Amino acid sequence: MIVAVASGKGGTGKTTVSTSLALVAAEKGKVCFLDCDVEEPNAHIILKPRLSGQEAVRVRVPVIEQERCTLCGRCADVCAFHALVVLPQEVMVFSPMCHGCGGCWHLCPAGAIHPGWREIGQMEEGECGKIRFVHGRLKVGEAMSPPLIRAVKQRAQAGALNIVDAPPGTSCPVVAAVEGADFCLLVTEPTPFGLHDLELAWEMVSQLGIPCGVVVNRSDGRDEPVEEFCRTRNLPLLMRLPLDRDVARGYARGIPPIAVHPAWKGHFRELLHAISERAGLKCAKS
Ligand code: SF4
Ligand code: SF4
Repeated sequence: MIVAVASGKGGTGKTTVSTSLALVAAEKGKVCFLDCDVEEPNAHIILKPRLSGQEAVRVRVPVIEQERCTLCGRCADVCAFHALVVLPQEVMVFSPMCHGCGGCWHLCPAGAIHPGWREIGQMEEGECGKIRFVHGRLKVGEAMSPPLIRAVKQRAQAGALNIVDAPPGTSCPVVAAVEGADFCLLVTEPTPFGLHDLELAWEMVSQLGIPCGVVVNRSDGRDEPVEEFCRTRNLPLLMRLPLDRDVARGYARGIPPIAVHPAWKGHFRELLHAISERAGLKCAKS
C-alpha cells in the first residue's frame, strides 16, 4: 500500500505527520519511507537513518554534433520547451529547460543530435530501525524534480506500507509524488492560508482519483472553517494534533512528537487504522 502525505502549503507539519506515522507503523510491520520532498528533504533529521547507498539520478539531454548540423532549424521547431536555439553558426542547448522527450534527436534529418545525460540529483537510501528509508536530493538550482521523485518512488517495497512524503503545493512535483497512491493524507493548519491551500490540494488529489482525508495540525480549538470544508466535500477529518509548545521545541531538535508525548502514539495508530480501512475500500473496488 502507498500512502502519500501532502499539503497545499509548506510548514503545516506534513513531515511531522509522515514520520510519526512511519514510526508507529513500524511497530507492527514492514515500512518504507520515501522522502519525495526532493528540494528540501528533511525527514532524515527526525528518522535519523543510517545511509548506506547513494546513486546519481540523470535525465536525457541532446548533444549536438555541430560538424554534421546543417542549421535547418527543425530541432528548435519541434522542441515544445524552447530548449534549443539555432544561431547562424551553431545550435545552442539550454539543458535545464530540456524535458528529455527525445523529439529532437529522433527528428534531426542530419543525424546530428545524440542523447546524452545530465545529472539532476542524488538518491540516498538506508535503514532506521525497521524502516527502509529513501530520499532524493535535487541539485541546487535544478528545476527538473519529477524524474528524481519518480526514481525515489521506484524504491517502494512490495508488501510494505510505503509512506511518500510529498513536496508542498499542487504543481508537477506534487502530482509526480502522489500519483499512484492508494490514499493521500492532506495536512493542514487552522488558518485562512491553510484552508485556502487545503482546497487546492483537495482539488488536485480529487482530479487524480485518489481517496483522501485531512489532518489538522496545531489545532487551537478553532477549526470550524476546516470542519465545514470537510463536511461539505464529504472529506473525512481523520486526526487533530493540538498546538503544543513542547512538540514545537522537540521538532526544532529533530525529536518526533510521539517521543515528546508517547500518548500521541494512540492518535497515530487510530489514523493508521482509518487509512487502512479507506485505502482497503478503494483497493477492493478497483
Ligand atoms: S535538426 Fe539537426 S541539422 Fe537541423 S539544426 Fe537541429 S541539429 Fe542541426
Ligand atoms: S529532448 Fe525534447 S525537450 Fe529536450 S531539447 Fe530535445 S525536443 Fe526539447
